[in-house]
Amino acid sequence: MPELQGQCMCGAVTVTATPASDALGACHCDMCRRWTSSALVTFPAQPGYAALGPVKTFTSSDWAERAFCEECGSALWYRITLPGEMHGQTQIAAGLFDNAAGNTLKLELYIDKKPEGYAFAGERRQMTEAEVMAMYAPSEEGDSQ
Ligand SMILES: [Zn+2]
Ligand SMILES: [Zn+2]
Repeated sequence: MPELQGQCMCGAVTVTATPASDALGACHCDMCRRWTSSALVTFPAQPGYAALGPVKTFTSSDWAERAFCEECGSALWYRITLPGEMHGQTQIAAGLFDNAAGNTLKLELYIDKKPEGYAFAGERRQMTEAEVMAMYAPSEEGDSQ
């Protein structure tokens, strides 16, 4: 995937990032809905992404933070802060980039939290809150594979 450059609504923040895949994900969780007024559509960024400008971060949970433009409020990214193998993994807001980085929506998270009044057209993998939690929760069996 090529390195891409995007910007926030006001242009004060520019973001340079290389997508780790050509897939977009959409999150319908309560926090993303309130943050964006709909769903947060992102792509996973390879390490080394960079931002220039007035970036603010907000600790939105015990395991993640959200970055936004201090000037215009545009959502920039969601980053895992929890220590461990997922630490630092970042989902960059696809809307910062022309044509949503040219990528395709392939996953919807928290589909059971999506409001009834709208939906993305087409078919793709969908995960409920319980399925997302099971994916992120540490193994309770104690096996280390
Ligand atoms: Zn801005
Ligand atoms: Zn979410």
